[in-house]
Amino acid sequence: MISTDFQSNITAVAYCRTPYKQKFGIPRQPGLVDVKGWVELVGDFNHIDCVRGIEQYSHIWLVFCFHENLSQGWKTTVKPPRLGGNDKLGVFATRATFRPNGIGQSVVKLHRVVQKSAKVMLEISGMDLLDNTPVIDIKPYIPFSDSLPNAVGGMAQQAPELIKVNYSALSIQQINAYQTAHPEIDDFQKLITGVLAQDPRPAYKKAKADPKIYQVALYDQDILWQVTSHQVQVLELKPSSIEKFEMS
Ligand code: SAM
Repeated sequence: MISTDFQSNITAVAYCRTPYKQKFGIPRQPGLVDVKGWVELVGDFNHIDCVRGIEQYSHIWLVFCFHENLSQGWKTTVKPPRLGGNDKLGVFATRATFRPNGIGQSVVKLHRVVQKSAKVMLEISGMDLLDNTPVIDIKPYIPFSDSLPNAVGGMAQQAPELIKVNYSALSIQQINAYQTAHPEIDDFQKLITGVLAQDPRPAYKKAKADPKIYQVALYDQDILWQVTSHQVQVLELKPSSIEKFEMS
C-alpha cells in the first residue's frame, strides 16, 4: 500500500523574465526560438552560493509552474495542437499546460550568471515561458543521461513545421525604429520571424483560408499579422495593450 500522506510547500526559487507577455505565440517547446531571457533568483535563494559552479554547464533545466493556468484545473484528456485539436490523449501523454500540480520543465541555454543591484540572475535563451513564470527548481542539463537521440517521440518526434514570414514596408520601418530605441534587445525581427514561423494559430485553422488579423505581444509591442496562402504577412506594430515591459 503506497503512503498517500505526501505534503509539500513548494515555493518559487526564481521568476523568469521573458519577452512573452501573453501565452498566445509562445513557442510550444524550448529551443525553437532563439531569444534571450532572465531567471531572477528570489528570497533565500537569491544568493550567489546557490548557483556556484552552474556556469560549467551549457544548458539548465527549469522546473516551473504554468501559473496562468493553475486556477483553471485540469482534465484527464487533452487535445494536443499537434493532432489538429480534435484527437484526445491522456494528460500524462502530452506536455499540455493544464496539468495536475501545473508543473512544466524546459531545458534552456545558460549564457552567464549576473549579479546586479543585489539580484542574482541567470541569462538564458530559447525558453518557452511566459514573462513572470515562477521557477520552482533549477538543475544542470546532463547530456549523458538527459540526451537520448534514439528515443521515440510519438506524435512529437519532429519540431513543428515552419511557414514563411513576410513583412509590410510599414512593419519593417517600425521594427527598425524599435530596434534603434532598444539596443539592449537582440535582433527583434529575428524574434518576430521565429515566433510567427511557428504559426501560433489553433491547429484547425491551418488548412483553411483565414482572413482574421492576429496579434502577438512581444516586449511592449503588439505585432499584428495574418496568414494568406500559407504564409504570414506581418502588417504593423502597435504599443502593447498589456502592461509595459521593463528590461531587467
Ligand atoms: N517545455 C515545457 C514542458 O514541456 O513542460 C512547456 C511546454 S508547454 C506546451 C509550452 C507552452 O506553455 C507555451 O507555448 C505557452 O503557451 C505556455 N506557457 C508558458 N509559460 C506559461 C505560464 N507561466 N502559465 C501558463 N502557460 C504557460
